[in-house]
Amino acid sequence: MRRRKSHGLFTNLRTGSGSLLYNNSGKSRAAAQRSRDRRKAEDDAPRLIDVLPGLRSAKLAVTELVANGATKYIKHIVVARSPVLFIIPCGDPVCQDGGHDITSELMSAFRKRLATASGESACSGTTGTAECRRSIQYTLTAEYAS
Ligand SMILES: [Zn+2]
Repeated sequence: MRRRKSHGLFTNLRTGSGSLLYNNSGKSRAAAQRSRDRRKAEDDAPRLIDVLPGLRSAKLAVTELVANGATKYIKHIVVARSPVLFIIPCGDPVCQDGGHDITSELMSAFRKRLATASGESACSGTTGTAECRRSIQYTLTAEYAS
């Protein structure tokens, strides 16, 4: 990784930064487009509170498995504001088109009023020319109105 980076810098210094700048802006345009798409999808999705009025609170414990270990974090689902769209982004910054859409899994757990549910998802993105190897394990905890 380190070797590839310094090689890239070396090439760049020799050939000038024009093409690098161009590539970068192309990439960030694509990233901006992706985040616009994601926001639009979130705006278009119905609100959780409208679909599941009995849901009181929910949170997700996510463990992302990476090459040398795991990253854990908790994602709180704000029932009052959350859209019916649960996409956990891939934690690898170079991953393209990755992420974990677990909307149908979570919705099915909510509809069954499960207090806990867990599952796994493998990233389907790509890092450079290779497939992304990351995956997540998640545990949902939810509370419902009685
Ligand atoms: Zn990925």
